[in-house]
Amino acid sequence: MKRVYNFSAGPSMLPESVLKRAADEMLDYNGSGQSVMEMSHRSKVYDEIIKDAEKLLREVMNIPDNYKVLFLQGGASTQFAMIPLNLMNKSHKADYVLTGQWATKAYKEAARYGEVNVVASSKDKTFSYIPKLDKSTFTKDADYFHICMNNTIYGTVYHELPDTGDVPLVADVSSCILSKPIDVSKFGVLYAGAQKNMAPAGLTVVIIREDLIGNAMDITPTMLNYQTHADNDSMFNTPPCYTIYIAKLVLEWIKNEVGGLEKMQEINEKKAAILYNFLDNSKMFKGTVVPEDRSIMNVPFVTGNDELDTKFVKEATAAGFVNIKGHRSVGGMRASIYNAMPIEGVEALVKFMGEFEAQNS
Ligand SMILES: *Cc1c(COP(=O)(O)O)cnc(C)c1O
Repeated sequence: MKRVYNFSAGPSMLPESVLKRAADEMLDYNGSGQSVMEMSHRSKVYDEIIKDAEKLLREVMNIPDNYKVLFLQGGASTQFAMIPLNLMNKSHKADYVLTGQWATKAYKEAARYGEVNVVASSKDKTFSYIPKLDKSTFTKDADYFHICMNNTIYGTVYHELPDTGDVPLVADVSSCILSKPIDVSKFGVLYAGAQKNMAPAGLTVVIIREDLIGNAMDITPTMLNYQTHADNDSMFNTPPCYTIYIAKLVLEWIKNEVGGLEKMQEINEKKAAILYNFLDNSKMFKGTVVPEDRSIMNVPFVTGNDELDTKFVKEATAAGFVNIKGHRSVGGMRASIYNAMPIEGVEALVKFMGEFEAQNS
């Protein structure tokens, strides 16, 4: 069996030890005589799985006690509506920073429910940077302030958070959750689709300060009300059972094999540095993002020649570096190097890029 290095932006690689453990437990989970896929979500054995998953997430991310952890469905995209429906309840105003497609989708959805102010945008340069924010342009009485922390398509990340004062900061962390420690207490809400850095698709994790729950708009569907899920420990209806189980295994991997999020960050920064150093020294390939806003998770790069890009993607795929084609809005290539991408994968990619450059220049 030969496994490829998968540079997909999502769904993406999972740690090999997690996949092996899931395979071992496939037919008989912990002596229950059944697969986690088959068991009742109300059973004692499953209850332990979902509780452990939450406990591990709280421990690994150091989540304060006044925050709820919710295991939901509908992807990060459903949060684009749940955030305004639940949080736009006083001034019915919110601030958004447009740093890419996901941030813009979130903004457009919120604009259906209230008065949404675009504080800044980096659209003028294909979202290749994080705009400088001027506090005087923030809406003083906004119900919340929304950012997309790591911009999966464009490869930018906030290295510094906006200072929103008493206005709750809400962040889409789909593509950077668990990549490094994060001070949860600085946020009102964090949300993430699991399929980038946590688990297979199907699970959305929401971490929300308790005082922000319970004041949803009257029109909010029951299933889109955070209170519904908070009151029922994410068991109002059937949760995505198997995906939560894999998330638990991934969290165990981070805690026990990697050694926590500080260690995870160290590894991720090392991987990103290998790639960025290569790009900065290459005459053929170059990164598309301004150096100060570069993401350690998603690394877009181009040759500047569409034909050469196509040739590179084709040859890379044949050599076992898959899903490295860039998003259509940026072109070129994008290497997503999430937690589960081993350092050897990045080293091998850089070696391959060096050889490609030598042969084609
Ligand atoms: C992938 C992604 C989304 C969309 O997630 P879905 O779970 O497919 O809805 C939203 N935001 C960011 C930052 C993403 O990377």
